[in-house]
Amino acid sequence: MKNSLSLEDIYNLAYTTLTKGGSCSEQAEAVAQTILSAEKDGSVSHGLFRLPGYFNSLKSGKVNLNPNPSLHKVTKAVLKCGGDRSFAPLIHKMYLNELIKSTKDIGIGVLSIQRVAHFASLWPETETLAENGLIGIACTSYLPVVSPFGASEKLFGTNPISFAWPRKTNNPLVFDMATSSLALGDVQIAARDGHELPVGAGIDANGNATTDPNQVLEGMLLPFGGYKGSHLSMMIELLAGPLVGETTSDTTEENNIDDGGPPLGGQFILAMSPEIISGLDDWDKNAETFINKLSNLKGVRMPGKRRHINRTSLENIEVNSDLLNKIYSL
Ligand code: NDP
Repeated sequence: MKNSLSLEDIYNLAYTTLTKGGSCSEQAEAVAQTILSAEKDGSVSHGLFRLPGYFNSLKSGKVNLNPNPSLHKVTKAVLKCGGDRSFAPLIHKMYLNELIKSTKDIGIGVLSIQRVAHFASLWPETETLAENGLIGIACTSYLPVVSPFGASEKLFGTNPISFAWPRKTNNPLVFDMATSSLALGDVQIAARDGHELPVGAGIDANGNATTDPNQVLEGMLLPFGGYKGSHLSMMIELLAGPLVGETTSDTTEENNIDDGGPPLGGQFILAMSPEIISGLDDWDKNAETFINKLSNLKGVRMPGKRRHINRTSLENIEVNSDLLNKIYSL
């Protein structure tokens, strides 16, 4: 069963639930906006579906109700943010502009974020950078739910990475993906809705292949693309963990409060100015030729296309009724 909600209803429901959970208004606004953007773009597993988890992490005390994040400009290129146990969208709202300003000035910039709870898609942050004429790369780790290639033991998070390329007269080109075969939210939704997973998505607790989402939730996911996806996931553990002075997914778990919400960890965001790095005013010329050639190839579907179509066409969103009842009960 599904209920139809307007975009305004979705924002208000998210904002009210978060403030009832005790969050200050600024943090609730940032997270509600992120939830709304996900629903608007049809990113179901990172919209309202995440709201009970956000709420639980406020109630358990893991996430600060009134965080006081800080930004330290270590060098012109390195901005170091202490998240003060906040939800990541608050940090993006507060500091992405600083990253944009310094990157436009010197060509490259890193926003290194500590003590933050990331429970959302990553395209909102990379797309914002690209809408401001910059290339963006962002990644974060999670909790150990993925077995490295060859092992039957959880070590990696679902470790998403997003890349955005700016375009002068088009929407930015953006991809945003977990480096596991599936995002965990999609496995949870498949379990809720009684769907099988694709072959190769995960293994049970004994290391046997299975397409049963419940068995995978008790067992573990696999990286996408065999050992190659496994290596990318390893890279993300290092960039979003030790590089920003934070834990990797396995050590994140040691101090995590298991409240169903996001763990506290790090995020790595890299911004680059194509104009300054290429030294060309028409830096986009070759890129546009390439992107157009790629998108015109028969059979190719460009990343971000689904989201951008949804964004301009979805006015009312169909939301799972059980999820809504769960949210109302909060
Ligand atoms: P998908 O596999 O759905 O999509 C990955 C990318 O590929 C998207 O950019 C998507 O574009 C594109 N794409 C999808 N289908 C096709 C196709 N048939 N042909 C060409 N391109 C395609 O994403 P995931 O399930 O891996 O991840 C979902 C979300 O989960 C991400 O936003 C990620 O950031 C988030 N996540 C967050 C975590 C966290 O800890 N915060 C952890 C793990 C994941 P489009 O969007 O247009 O469909």
